[in-house]
Amino acid sequence: MEIFKQIAPLKAFLNAQKRAGKSIGLVPTMGALHAGHLSLITTSAAQNDVTVCSIFVNPTQFNNPGDLQKYPRTLDKDTLLLEKVECDAVFCPDASEMYPERSIIKFDFGHLDKVMEGAFRPGHFSGVGLVVSKLFNIIQPTHAYFGQKDWQQFAVIRRLVDELNFDLELTSVPTSREDDGLAMSSRNLRLNPEQRQVATVFYESLMAAKQALQQGKTVQETRAIVQTKFDERRVSLEYFELADSKNLNILENVKASDAPSGQPIMCIAGFVGEVRLIDNMFLQ
Ligand code: AMP
Repeated sequence: MEIFKQIAPLKAFLNAQKRAGKSIGLVPTMGALHAGHLSLITTSAAQNDVTVCSIFVNPTQFNNPGDLQKYPRTLDKDTLLLEKVECDAVFCPDASEMYPERSIIKFDFGHLDKVMEGAFRPGHFSGVGLVVSKLFNIIQPTHAYFGQKDWQQFAVIRRLVDELNFDLELTSVPTSREDDGLAMSSRNLRLNPEQRQVATVFYESLMAAKQALQQGKTVQETRAIVQTKFDERRVSLEYFELADSKNLNILENVKASDAPSGQPIMCIAGFVGEVRLIDNMFLQ
């Protein structure tokens, strides 16, 4: 496995692969890798000749400086994990390599970044759009892999690829979960043992909400059920929404006609102590 901190040698390596006609799968990450990330790598490895994993804690997508500072960084452990799966190259640049000057470009994804994560993390998707565009331009992958765990991010990137004509195929990989249902996340490393236990409320609430909605409860009634579960565990609920999975329009009920462009998806976010977690689940 090759490890690159600089853009130029990475490009030289990839150009040689491209000249040989090889397909290139990219898995962008912020490191602190877990089995969820590795499932993206193995999906890419199964579909491509060469798999590149980028590890970069992207400052422009953090709206909260404390979150950026406390984001776990475990590069040595990450590279050991990647050695064990079929990852061919790691790109782990410093911030100065990616942003030699303070970036001035902003992305506005319209409605896609005004709801849910976009509403609670202003500027987040602009930073995501920027770093993903830079990675796509530097690496020029034929395929790119993202987790369903960050569904809104996938919807935003799909729009970015369509609207800017990036010549690549996007794939969303299902969410990997711990045995008790908690979605794997690098941020789980910041939970103390007690917080780790109550964090299952996200998955449990999504399961309960799915049942309630399928039984004909409104989103408002379902949100009240979720809120009660969060209150019982003393976890703070930021939002619970049902949305059209493609255009991210917020839905008030589950009639298929209300999600004309995609399947309804439930999305949830909240804080366990200081740690912000998100999760989601399709209704069907
Ligand atoms: P991150 O390092 O958190 O930015 O995540 C990098 C990529 O891994 C993103 O596309 C995430 O959606 C994906 N990812 C994160 N957690 C999971 C998970 N539990 N299962 C599947 N993919 C995940």
